[in-house]
Amino acid sequence: MRKNIVAGNWKMNNNLQEGLNLAKELQQALAGKTVNCDVVICTPFIHLASIAKEITTVGLGAQNCADKVSGAYTGEVSAAMIASTGAQYVIIGHSERRAYYGETNAILKEKVLLALANHLTPIFCIGEVLAEREAGKQNKVVETQIRESLFHLSAKDFGKIVLAYEPVWAIGTGVTATSDQAQEMHAFIRKTIAEKYGSAVAGETSILYGGSCNASNAKELFANPDVDGGLIGGASLSVDKFMPIVEAF
Ligand code: PEP
Repeated sequence: MRKNIVAGNWKMNNNLQEGLNLAKELQQALAGKTVNCDVVICTPFIHLASIAKEITTVGLGAQNCADKVSGAYTGEVSAAMIASTGAQYVIIGHSERRAYYGETNAILKEKVLLALANHLTPIFCIGEVLAEREAGKQNKVVETQIRESLFHLSAKDFGKIVLAYEPVWAIGTGVTATSDQAQEMHAFIRKTIAEKYGSAVAGETSILYGGSCNASNAKELFANPDVDGGLIGGASLSVDKFMPIVEAF
């Protein structure tokens, strides 16, 4: 059975001490509780090595990795470096990376390959902007993102990917996709995967929803048959807001 996952995306928030405190607080909040999902936090690069030493029950990921193996790429952080901290996940293709840092489907394809080569689980983000949804092009946009960055993978490697559908118009806006909109898109994504890799691979792929997910809408979103959890931005920055989402399963 595919995994349910609730992953926090801290973005560029929290200095090292604040991040360590938040990670420890989360671990404490989870202690002794049985939750029906894997819990992951994706922190800034500089937090990874320190937080990896503190958390045992919470998964750890980066928010990006370089599209090159190593060398003269000032300011970049490679997938191998991320793996060496003890992190297990990396977010790839977040809409903020696509929009502000010019990350194309072709660049993201390289990042996915490097993440997999370093035994990191990519949390691969896809999603349309508002104008594309208003024009009824959301399925085409999402399909193209998947096809151009992921469909070169073998079925075995595709099976290692976690997808996160994040409609760009819902990220950080307080506007959430309705439960029906989320289910409709997630079912479309699963069908697209099934057409390429077969229904067994599609059925095993975790597809998370992201975009203003919070304590009051998580239960309804996660109740959908094709929604396997959430990628959570703002609400992952406080344990009081994050835990009810984790417990929504
Ligand atoms: C995100 O950035 O991945 C995200 C879903 O943000 P928010 O929850 O703040 O909308």
